[in-house]
Amino acid sequence: MSDSQDFDLIVIGAGSGGVRLARMSAQRGARVAVVESRYLGGTCVNVGCVPKKLFVYGAHVHDDLEDAAGYGWRVPMDDVSFDWPTLVANKNAEIERLNGIYGRLLENAGVEIIRGTASIQDANTVVVGDQRYSTKHITVATGSWPVVPDVPGKECILTSNEMFYLPQLPRHAVVWGGGYIAVEFAGILAGLGVKTTLLYRGDLFLRGFDDDIRRFTEQEMRKKGIDLQFNVTIESIETEGAHYQVNLSNGEQLETGLVMAATGRRALVDGLGLTDLGIELNASGHVVVDDYFQTSVPSISALGDVIGTPQLTPVALAQAMVLSRRLFGDGQGEMDYSAIPTAVFCQPNIGTVGLTEEQAREAGHKLRIYRSEFRPMKYTLSGRDERCLMKLVVDDQTDKVLGAHMVGPDAGEITQGLAVAIKAGATKAQFDATIGIHPTSAEEFVTMREPVA
Ligand code: NDP
Repeated sequence: MSDSQDFDLIVIGAGSGGVRLARMSAQRGARVAVVESRYLGGTCVNVGCVPKKLFVYGAHVHDDLEDAAGYGWRVPMDDVSFDWPTLVANKNAEIERLNGIYGRLLENAGVEIIRGTASIQDANTVVVGDQRYSTKHITVATGSWPVVPDVPGKECILTSNEMFYLPQLPRHAVVWGGGYIAVEFAGILAGLGVKTTLLYRGDLFLRGFDDDIRRFTEQEMRKKGIDLQFNVTIESIETEGAHYQVNLSNGEQLETGLVMAATGRRALVDGLGLTDLGIELNASGHVVVDDYFQTSVPSISALGDVIGTPQLTPVALAQAMVLSRRLFGDGQGEMDYSAIPTAVFCQPNIGTVGLTEEQAREAGHKLRIYRSEFRPMKYTLSGRDERCLMKLVVDDQTDKVLGAHMVGPDAGEITQGLAVAIKAGATKAQFDATIGIHPTSAEEFVTMREPVA
């Protein structure tokens, strides 16, 4: 074991939060190293947001080709073919480009990149391989990892990690789970021509989203031919040659070529030695930190997916900005977790910000609910049977817009702007006083006049 120079900060994990913290802190003059055992950019860049969105674009091309006919284009749909290896190879090339950018961003900021698996020896020492590094501060930004429930035959179950590198697409796939990743992958697979079944253990998937949004998404996904099965789960899986027999809790069986679990993610803390140092993990296995990301050991902090706050890249980035400022800036700043906008890139997309109707009622607000449902203009000529839903949750006493929710094309793009208004505390009267942009779907958000409830 050899000892190495002193750092001001060692960040463990070069994902979204870790890279941002390292760069910002180095730019403030700190001597910073980041330790990474896999890939630069973490889940988001390599096996999450970025490749997922590229696959979503790829899957949507099928609808665009079908829609072309109504606009006069002759696209012989019986002669259209799709080559999965091309999509994967092009996606891989783009991810490699982004990996390079992340490396250069760190190097240009003067951050040392240490390749290997880190463990924390004591409050100020990190060990990587046979090297020991001393440091004033340590930040754990190791992210999360997919969890596969313990059922007989689980060895054959894939997670999102492997789905990004599948050598070929099956004819039929089973997606297990009803959260973000399950509905996004069900949309991708179905769009790429795979007969897809989604299994969810509860009454209705997307728990935590507004109930209208959940029901509407169900309706639109069914229209796309996705077999949604609720109140059912997987009991066991048997391998039969290149196929699988999935035994369900309702006594039925499914024959399929692929089973993917999207049943949640756990904090990735293996081998770090946190509990040996007395750092507390909560019941769900996340690192316990205070409002300023400090663990029970004052020199060790943690941020991002590993602390169990909303598992979203922009949240980890914002946390990194706060922590860097506190450690190496003016010592001020704190996170504001209110009105975090988010999108689910199922097809059609979901965009949401602020309170759901259920959360607002639960919190005791007397509400006015505005809802608009329509066929997006693009689909009038193409004849596509796809609809769009928009909803505003308004406090009846203050007139404040508490939440905005949408299912439809470009929901993520539209919701980002609404998030600014909701964050600023906009009232329904201010939405009404805003001139619409015509003709767009987004203008519906400023033209809903009559409450439906
Ligand atoms: P989620 O926590 O969103 O969903 C997990 C799903 O699996 C839920 O439907 C849950 O059911 C179900 N489930 C959990 N355990 C079991 C079990 N033992 N048996 C059967 N079903 C089970 O996790 P994801 O993996 O989808 O995503 C993780 C996180 O990543 C998300 O919460 C999100 O923060 C982030 N993410 C964000 C994206 C975006 O911004 N677009 C995209 C992808 C991920 P139940 O509801 O009943 O608990």
